[in-house]
Order: sequence, then C-alpha cells, then structure tokens
Amino acid sequence: MASAIIIGAGPAGISAGLYLHRGLPATDIRILTKGAGTGSLAQAGLIENYYGLEAPISGAELERRGRAGAERLGLTIAEREVFGLRLNDKVDGFLVETDKDTMEADVVIMATGAAREKPLGLPGLEELTGHGISYCAICDAFFYRGKPVGVLGAGDYALHELGVLLPIAGEVSLFTNGAPAPAGVPTSVTVYTEPLQALTPAPDTTPHRLAAVELTSGQTVPLAGLFIALGTAGSTILARKAGALLTDDGRSVRVDEHMATNIPGLFAAGDSIGGLLQVAKAVYEGAEAGLAAVRYLRQKSRPQSST
Ligand SMILES: Cc1cc2nc3c(=O)[nH]c(=O)nc-3n(C[C@H](O)[C@H](O)[C@H](O)COP(=O)(O)OP(=O)(O)OC[C@H]3O[C@@H](n4cnc5c(N)ncnc54)[C@H](O)[C@@H]3O)c2cc1C
Repeated sequence: MASAIIIGAGPAGISAGLYLHRGLPATDIRILTKGAGTGSLAQAGLIENYYGLEAPISGAELERRGRAGAERLGLTIAEREVFGLRLNDKVDGFLVETDKDTMEADVVIMATGAAREKPLGLPGLEELTGHGISYCAICDAFFYRGKPVGVLGAGDYALHELGVLLPIAGEVSLFTNGAPAPAGVPTSVTVYTEPLQALTPAPDTTPHRLAAVELTSGQTVPLAGLFIALGTAGSTILARKAGALLTDDGRSVRVDEHMATNIPGLFAAGDSIGGLLQVAKAVYEGAEAGLAAVRYLRQKSRPQSST
C-alpha cells in the first residue's frame, strides 16, 4: 500500500489529505500536526472572507470543522512534531523524524504554514548565514567536526538539534536567548540563558565567518557554528534537510504550478510557499498538491517497461 505523510493540519494540509484520499482511497495517509490551535488559522479572530460562511466564525472553529470533516471521511490526524525530513534511498521514499518516532512515506506534502522564527534584528545574522550560521544540523554538522558549536533555541526542536551535533562537533552549547533552560539538556552541554546581542565575525575572513556570539552582559563565547532552532521546524527548514530548493529570499519553499518541489515525491502548499497568506489560497494549493501526489503515486506503482 502506498503511504503519504502530510506535515500540517491547517487548511492546506487537510485539503491535501481530502484530495489524496479521494484520488487514491487505499493510500495510508497520516496528517501530522503539533496539535489543535498551533497554526496560523487558530490565531485568526473572525474569518468572514471565505466562501460558504453565513456568519463570521473564529479561526479556531474553522480549524475544528476542517479537522472533524477530514476525520469523518476516514483520515488520520496525529499529534507529532516533525524535526527532520530525509530521503530514504532504500525504498525511494522519505523518512520523517518526529518527537515520537521515525516514519516512512512514499510521498510527503509540507503544509506547515508561514516561515518560522528567526532571531530578527540580531546583528550579523544575514551576513553570516551559510558562513557559520546554519538552520540544519543534519545537513551541516559534518563541517563542524571537533569544533565548538552552539544551538539557539529552547524547545524540543533545539534539543533534537543538540542530539545531532553532540556526537560530531567538539564543545556544544545551548543559547536560549532569554528563555528558561529546557528540561532534558544533556549534561555535557553548556547552557547560556542570557539573550544574544550580536554575532561576531572573524576579522580576517572573506567572506566573513562566524567567530563568536556576544551576550547582553558583554561576555563573548567563541563558536565556529551556530544552529538556529527557534520554535518549530517549518517547511523551509524541512525542505533544506531534504535538499529541496527555496525561493530566492529563502523564506518559502520553491514549487512548480502543481506544488511539486525539485525532489520527486515532495510537495508543499499553503503559507509555506509564500504569496497570498489566506485560507482560500491554502485550500486550493492543498488540493493541487493532493492531486499531484495522486499522479505521482500512480506513476510510481506502474510497472516499468524493460528496454
Ligand atoms: C491573526 C491572523 C488573522 C488571519 N485572518 C485571516 C482571514 O480573515 N481570512 C483568511 O483567509 N486568512 C486569514 N489568516 C491567514 C490564514 O490563517 C492562513 O493563510 C492559513 O491558516 C494558512 O494555512 P496553512 O495550512 O498553510 O498553515 P497553518 O494554518 O499555519 O497550519 C500549519 C499547520 O502545520 C503544523 N506544523 C507546523 N510545523 C510543524 C512541525 N514541525 N511538525 C508538525 N506539524 C507542524 C501546525 O501544527 C498546523 O497544523 C489570518 C492569519 C492570522 C495569523
């Protein structure tokens, strides 16, 4: 049986699930979410510009209805926070790493909503991205073998990134940027809870490379690499992990008109691909991604003709 994982249970993810289910009912479809109320939709007070609403309803109520309708049709919605996405070369599919387990799928549709937190306004961030600043431990840890690195974040995602770095990098630190230290930080990790003030480049490198982070107290911590893991891994981070391309500004996943990324079997829809951030667009793109996934799975299951 073909399997599909949809990351996100907002309008885009649910819509993708509905169309995939209709097109290939036998597919094992799992829609993963951080939980009810975790996407943009739940933050919308009243929605009145979406088709079919006789009276305005809250975003939370629209989300509840969307999920209930999908479950009524037999779709499975599971609470899982996704940390990682990789190609599974053995079976020509994907491995989706979550806070509870690692799941396999033939296709993945990313519908995690708009781009997640960046430490906005942190001097040096843009200039040093790709030169010591990384958003993906599994992609870049290798370049920091034996070197001092840090993770910026204070949630489960940050803990996951620490776990990837610890066996590879030298000294590993956690910077919570003013948040309390999370439970479960490995004892070998040094935790700094003070906010960061700036990222300091090495003076003699072209292009500049990260040399240290500066805390608000003025203390400087030398670092070869800093991995940003604030909040949750959104679609752009997951796309990078799988090797998929982003838009030129790096804020959205790059897709074609059928919501396909450059990686066969990997799709994205909704706020995660940018443009008009509205429910109507997310629902349309989810439908398009679901139908494109149906075509992909049909093609994949066709016997290859021998030449
Ligand atoms: C305050 C506010 C008001 C708005 N008002 C309107 C309005 O009036 N009309 C309108 O049309 N639109 C409105 N919008 C926009 C609308 O809510 C979004 O365009 C729409 O919800 C996008 O749908 P989505 O499915 O792409 O993402 P979202 O609704 O953001 O859903 C994202 C899903 O991804 C999940 N997720 C994210 N990361 C992970 C992870 N790592 N692992 C597992 N799950 C993950 C979340 O848990 C969630 O289920 C408003 C938005 C806001 C913030």
